[in-house]
Amino acid sequence: MKPAPFEFVAPTSLDETISILRIARQGGRRALLLAGGQSLLPQLKERDERAEIIVWTGKIKELSHFERAHDGWHIGASATAARLEEIGRGTPLASIGTSVGPPAVRSCATIGGGIVSASSTSDWLVRLAACSARCLLVGPQGRAMHRAIGEITVLPTDGIITEIVIPPQIDDAELYVDRVGSSRNAVPDINIALLFRRKLRRGKVAFGTSGGSFATFDLDGAQLDHIARQSASPTIVAALRLPSGDDAGLVAALLGDLVRATRDREVLP
Ligand SMILES: Cc1cc2nc3c(=O)[nH]c(=O)nc-3n(C[C@H](O)[C@H](O)[C@H](O)COP(=O)(O)OP(=O)(O)OC[C@H]3O[C@@H](n4cnc5c(N)ncnc54)[C@H](O)[C@@H]3O)c2cc1C
Repeated sequence: MKPAPFEFVAPTSLDETISILRIARQGGRRALLLAGGQSLLPQLKERDERAEIIVWTGKIKELSHFERAHDGWHIGASATAARLEEIGRGTPLASIGTSVGPPAVRSCATIGGGIVSASSTSDWLVRLAACSARCLLVGPQGRAMHRAIGEITVLPTDGIITEIVIPPQIDDAELYVDRVGSSRNAVPDINIALLFRRKLRRGKVAFGTSGGSFATFDLDGAQLDHIARQSASPTIVAALRLPSGDDAGLVAALLGDLVRATRDREVLP
């Protein structure tokens, strides 16, 4: 199938983009942002999504930066998964990029588009959440706000993600991941990531389930030891706040595997 006809615009600044979105809304025309197109283009082709105006983000200068500042990494929303792999080589940043499908997809798929189109079990979402990443969103009136990853499944109408900030602790941390329920490149039933800071013996876990649960929590050294020796304790399972007993058991088992992997210094792919 072919997409329904639309007007294509490629603004070069954030102000211009906000004004295009605002004018479209006032005129009752549906405008959608397009980044790498890996999610949106198939939806337009299948006519699961429709828009009178497609606004390509690839030329917006405020979305193209990739910098390491004192408070961590500031990554413009247009950064592709391939760019994360390249710039973050040897750090968890690279592992976030590598997780997103085959190379042809990674060279187009952007971090901003990935977050907006993500399901609760997306690799983007669980890995960025384990890294305590947050997004900078600019709303339709130009007002900027920060949101933790995982809190932004609903964007404010006409909202634009401009950048993702990842705190500096990832530079000396290791990212361990696991998933169950399906093959790589397909949506898993459960996806889990553990960011482990070996020097501090602390961890941050994020997981999502296909049932829609998504949670993050911190682990201290004593909890890590306990999980490594046995399995996830009832206290930790309770902290997961999972609706289903089966999911809770599976998440606990995956968490046990990840923590034991940190002890064995085995980084999972
Ligand atoms: C073959 C294949 C394999 C894949 N494998 C994986 C995988 O293993 N793991 C995984 O996690 N994902 C996977 N994906 C999903 C992929 O990561 C996403 O499709 C991709 O990241 C979306 O980014 P994009 O730049 O292509 O977004 P687009 O498709 O261009 O846009 C997606 C959505 O985001 C919105 N959007 C885009 N940019 C912004 C912005 N700056 N602010 C606000 N809204 C915005 C768009 O309006 C649209 O609603 C796979 C996709 C394909 C096609």
